[in-house]
Amino acid sequence: MTRREQIIEILTKGEKSAQQLANDFKVELFEILEDLKHIGYSIKPKKLLQRPAQCKKCSFKFKERSKIKKPSKCPKCRSEWIMASLFRVE
Ligand SMILES: [Zn+2]
Repeated sequence: MTRREQIIEILTKGEKSAQQLANDFKVELFEILEDLKHIGYSIKPKKLLQRPAQCKKCSFKFKERSKIKKPSKCPKCRSEWIMASLFRVE
């Protein structure tokens, strides 16, 4: 089973952030992001869904661009308590 297949299986069972996946597979974050990009194209008719990163304090939702890296600060309330963007497969 390739890493991409394993990622699909993991994300079918539950949500994970790219960083969590990088930790699980002991690889760099950019490798996981590459995998996710590829998975997004290749799993049709399933879908790779992404929940945007969110501030845990004021619930501010970050836009698409925060997909690469977890944002460090909330632009609205300046909190650094940020929940990373989560991925899942449906
Ligand atoms: Zn906030």
